[in-house]
Amino acid sequence: MSRKTLIAGNWKMNGLLADGASLAKEIASNVKAIKPNAEVLVCPPFTLLTTVKKALRGSKVMLGAQDCHAEEKGAHTGDISPYMLKDAGCDYVILGHSERRTDHKETNALVKAKAQAAIKAGLKVIICIGETLAEREAGKAFEVTEKQIKGSVPSEATAANTVIAYEPVWAIGTGKTATPDDAEAVHAHVRKVLVQKCGKGVASRMRILYGGSMKPANAAELIAKENIDGGLIGGASLKAADFTAIIKTSK
Ligand code: PEP
Repeated sequence: MSRKTLIAGNWKMNGLLADGASLAKEIASNVKAIKPNAEVLVCPPFTLLTTVKKALRGSKVMLGAQDCHAEEKGAHTGDISPYMLKDAGCDYVILGHSERRTDHKETNALVKAKAQAAIKAGLKVIICIGETLAEREAGKAFEVTEKQIKGSVPSEATAANTVIAYEPVWAIGTGKTATPDDAEAVHAHVRKVLVQKCGKGVASRMRILYGGSMKPANAAELIAKENIDGGLIGGASLKAADFTAIIKTSK
């Protein structure tokens, strides 16, 4: 089953207007030059969305946000609705990133509600899952990711509107990466759980990205694995040259 590689950059809480515009322009021009086989996505902070959208004009690089609220509008001070993201030109939204699960106590049920709202608003969602170091050391990586899939992926999920990102928490921003074989083992397990959840057809077409200290030096080996369909990249997505080098490793 062929799945189009997706290379997504999560800029997290980084960048002022000028930095965001120049990074986006450089990525857009690199992508135009290399015409990758992959889809490319950048997810800047909310304040940069419209600036980055303008900077990407005329390129195939897509725009995403890093979170949204589960409601369409209303009394939710400081929050952003999925309809606002769609209106700002977003194609995607990242949901349930481990930093949000930790910093904002987001539960699987909340991530699922956000995903339902985002899909209804016409966005594609990247739902993040992944075990902590203690859970991995206790041999619970499969169990934890299975519970997260079952609890956070909504019944509306299809291969067209949903992407899963497996991001072992111990590998995010630490420089430690899962070995390609360890990552592939979890990805294969996640796909099995998706078969139970969404059926074989959807599960075989749904993309599962790896995230956690992906960089030019390790991307090719990871992305070459059968069930690794691209990457969700934090630190290395803030440097156009590194992000471009990762894009070039696409299958
Ligand atoms: C992330 O934030 O999704 C991530 C994978 O970060 P990093 O690449 O920096 O580990």
